[in-house]
Amino acid sequence: MKVLAVNAGSSSLKYQLIDYDTKRVLAKGLCERIGIDGHLVHKRGDVTFDANVAMPTHKEAMEAVFAALTDVDHGVIKSLSEVDAAGHRVAHGGDFKTSVLVTPETMARLESLIELAPLHNGPEINCIKSCIELMGADVPQVAVFDTSFHQTMPAEAFLYALPYEYYEKYAVRRYGFHGTSHRYVAARAAELMGKPLSELKLVTCHLGNGSSITAVDGGVSVDTSMGFTPGAGLPMGTRCGDIDPFILGFLQDKLGLSHAEVDEVLNKKSGMLGISGVSSDFRDVEAEADRGNTRAQEALDVFCYHVSKLIGSYAAAMGGIDGIVFTAGVGENDARVRLAACKRLGFLGAHVAEAVNAGVHGEEKVISTADSTVKVLVIPTNEEIMIASDTVALANGESLA
Ligand code: ADP
Repeated sequence: MKVLAVNAGSSSLKYQLIDYDTKRVLAKGLCERIGIDGHLVHKRGDVTFDANVAMPTHKEAMEAVFAALTDVDHGVIKSLSEVDAAGHRVAHGGDFKTSVLVTPETMARLESLIELAPLHNGPEINCIKSCIELMGADVPQVAVFDTSFHQTMPAEAFLYALPYEYYEKYAVRRYGFHGTSHRYVAARAAELMGKPLSELKLVTCHLGNGSSITAVDGGVSVDTSMGFTPGAGLPMGTRCGDIDPFILGFLQDKLGLSHAEVDEVLNKKSGMLGISGVSSDFRDVEAEADRGNTRAQEALDVFCYHVSKLIGSYAAAMGGIDGIVFTAGVGENDARVRLAACKRLGFLGAHVAEAVNAGVHGEEKVISTADSTVKVLVIPTNEEIMIASDTVALANGESLA
């Protein structure tokens, strides 16, 4: 079965065409600058094709993807009819507990969720609609939510201490994001540890440009650091993460900023970039810290401190911890962050083997010492294979519940 996994952002669209029977990626690529001008990079094995293609909306981007996939030179299929189903990453799934087949009913629910995450859900829904139009209404389309893995959180973890009516009337609560990634690495960690997932207490750390940490107890999410929006929790590349909520009003009054301007500061000018004044990219911040830039070092220290604190708090939330998993751009590649984040965790029984850790970049590996009672692992995430696997299951009429 050939499945197209689509991961759309506000101005970008990543895709992979996966042969699910062999789990082989037949082709993958990226559309960028959607709504501005449009650029496509398409890869088939070692062959890369790249072109400027007008993409006023995500529909033209999807058309460009299908044109690349069926191209006589760099394509991998003869016609679109060879694609059996498409799976779409959707950031905000509200109270959807699993991935769902897109039907007129589920589409109406998806549209009602746009107001919770307009920057993400809007373009993602446009991609689903474009695929229905371009592939035909009988080809299964599946929505895979960043939030659904976290729907198992108990009320004590997801309720905010706000007037209860805001939760009841407006669904203001912690949702959590990156669920597909946390779900994938938790399952993979259990395989690597040789134990049933149902018996493990894991803390999964998805550290990238956007970062979140999840407590996975017996295979289900019981707490996670992102909240009502993906701006909560850890400091990130440019997002502030958790801050005192009254800072917002203070800044509005003090600097005469509008609500939108404060949002822009918290989303785009904070995090690693805000503290360091250098960059949102950990590689740049580390290079500057090595040159003696103290603010760059402080940004790294703040980030690692918060990662440690969250891991410790989730060990408390679960009443124990068997494993810590690092994934995503920073988690998979940045040995320095992994070491610094774990250095306070010896009291829990987590000890990183420094020499092993230093050599691990983007590969599956246990990086804890032999006598560490908590296993520390690096596991590259693979959200696309999870999207494909849910899509295949639902397209075949299986239930995911
Ligand atoms: P996104 O949240 O955009 O999906 P990624 O998970 O791709 O982000 O992570 C991107 C981030 O990973 C970059 O901003 C960079 O800071 C970090 N990163 C990537 N490679 C390395 C590396 N070799 N060393 C340190 N950091 C890295």
